[in-house]
Amino acid sequence: MFSDRKLPSYISRENVGPWHIYLEQVDRVAPLLDKALQPWVETLRRPKRSLIVDVPIRLDDGRIEHFEGYRVHHNTSRGPGKGGIRFHQDVTLSEVMALAGWMTIKNAVVNVPFGGAKGGVRVDPRQLSQPELERLTRRYTSEIVSMIGPDKDIPAPDMNTNAQVMAWIMDTYSMGEGRTVTGVVTGKPISLGGSLGRPDATGRGVYVVAREVGQRLGLPIPGARVAVQGFGNVGEAAARIFAEAGASVIAIQDVSATVYAPGGLDLAALRQHLRATGSLQGAPGCETIGREEFWRLPCDFLVPAALEAQINQFNAGEINARVIVEGANGPTTPEAESILADKGVVVVPDVIANAGGVTVSYFEWVQDFSNFFWSEDEINRRLEKIMADAFAAIWVLAGERGLSLRTAAFVIACSRVLEARAIRGLYP
Ligand code: GLU
Repeated sequence: MFSDRKLPSYISRENVGPWHIYLEQVDRVAPLLDKALQPWVETLRRPKRSLIVDVPIRLDDGRIEHFEGYRVHHNTSRGPGKGGIRFHQDVTLSEVMALAGWMTIKNAVVNVPFGGAKGGVRVDPRQLSQPELERLTRRYTSEIVSMIGPDKDIPAPDMNTNAQVMAWIMDTYSMGEGRTVTGVVTGKPISLGGSLGRPDATGRGVYVVAREVGQRLGLPIPGARVAVQGFGNVGEAAARIFAEAGASVIAIQDVSATVYAPGGLDLAALRQHLRATGSLQGAPGCETIGREEFWRLPCDFLVPAALEAQINQFNAGEINARVIVEGANGPTTPEAESILADKGVVVVPDVIANAGGVTVSYFEWVQDFSNFFWSEDEINRRLEKIMADAFAAIWVLAGERGLSLRTAAFVIACSRVLEARAIRGLYP
């Protein structure tokens, strides 16, 4: 087996960040893989390359401030690196490595021809003005420019980054190249080669897998009670699409507050209140409850769509949901997962549940290359099919081999990645 003493410190198990969660997930699946792939498993435990950069910018008041940035290529066996860029004050190399590892698995689960990558800057973007954010994005892009490119590694939005940030990255890269390169990032504005349906894609995918698992468990979406943690790119869209399909979104938690209405929240009023005040606190038609109370609410679908490790050994025992659909990356720790399994709570893992975003990113990349753009209906139809088929394959394998949905998803993905790795062979 695998000995920590041989490992560089930054990927060892003493690294207690999210990378450790990812490693535990790989360890659970490794013995289940085909014998011929065993010699290659170590590949998954080591990111291919990791870059740490200094990102100095001039603030509006003239001072110079330094930020730490990262870009990690976890694996490129099946194609160029692909994965988002996150701006958050708690970003660490461990987190970016784990997120890159999950991208490798996710891209293989939905069988898009990408490896796994991720990037981030350790910054609280709420503290920066818009011009400062632009300077930060452009300088970070220049620092990681050797890593990215339309057939090398294609960034996308993640936490606290959006279409505007992608436009700045695309422009900075294009200026260096001396030509317009739209395919270097996805999640761009429509006017720069973005794809219809991309902003809602992750939330729509969350809904599609919830519907698919609900069908198999006798839990129809109309009338289902849904609780969502996070009201950003993923959580807001997921909540809206659940509600459109007839579910009752009874609770939402974000950084500002936890709001609850047993008869269903008025999501349009929440959005308006958030825009006007910057917080969910005091929104009309609902009560504000304690942060911990959120996890205890009886519901059919619980959608963590915020940060990692939100469902952990401290709150897993109290969860009152039938199904957890992981909109975030890594929201459930391995300890929590064992507790939930004992309670009979079904966990639909991140690597399928939130793969809708990167699936439509793939469509965007294809559209940019062919300069031929699809209708939103066509995009949503193809997204639904890829998500539903990938989920069905995971469900069947889990049933046949008595595995959790996460382990089944990892078996499918790791087999695809390692088959590609093995057949390529070692260079030189
Ligand atoms: N950041 C998203 C994720 O975690 C999307 C990545 C992409 O579209 O490349 O899956």
